Amino acid sequence: MDIVKNFKLIKKTITDNVQIIAVSKTKSKDEILKIYNIGHKNFGENKIQELKEKYNQLPKDIKWHMIGHVQRNKVKYIAPFIELIHSVDSLKLMLEINKQGEKNKRTIKCLLQIKIANEENKFGLFKDEVENLISLSNNLNYIKIIGLMGMATYTNNDKIIDREFKEIYNLFKILKISYKQLSILSIGMSNDYLIAINNGSNMVRIGSQIFGERN
Ligand SMILES: *Cc1c(COP(=O)(O)O)cnc(C)c1O
Repeated sequence: MDIVKNFKLIKKTITDNVQIIAVSKTKSKDEILKIYNIGHKNFGENKIQELKEKYNQLPKDIKWHMIGHVQRNKVKYIAPFIELIHSVDSLKLMLEINKQGEKNKRTIKCLLQIKIANEENKFGLFKDEVENLISLSNNLNYIKIIGLMGMATYTNNDKIIDREFKEIYNLFKILKISYKQLSILSIGMSNDYLIAINNGSNMVRIGSQIFGERN
């Protein structure tokens, strides 16, 4: 598995306005350092414990993204350093992030996770809840909602994926008219990032296509 080669191949298929989050969950420090050493700084993890350990052990200029479900009682472990939380899906979580942001004297950037997949096990907000949360967040000083995140249904059917990404892209475009702070649309993973980019993605979260399959 040539991680650097994989990473460069993906970069070639993507224009500069799309940020790559290298999803390093379950992968080792050495594997992460391979692409850190060629200048990549943005990495994503889905478990707070693992994220915190890697933060402690790896260079401090890495920008860490929390992309997995966040339990409120664990926000405190990442609040001091997290670059972006992609997976905010409730008011209670927003309030906790704001509280921990205040304790750490920093405004924590977040995305709202939208439920677009037809799967029971995917977290996220329903479309009609989103605007309310953005407008509530604008009264909080230590959290800033800067965009939306979504995960498509796990399927080989590109039409379904395309339809789901269009749904979140349309929502993003509509909300952007009223909420100028929204700039990030985080959609697209190893198997569907090109479909996502066709639907307005400017942040893709890619794991296995860079680091190889996870066990
Ligand atoms: C694991 C994960 C990814 C990356 O998945 P790949 O298919 O390996 O690219 C992206 N987003 C989230 C939320 C994940 O949990």
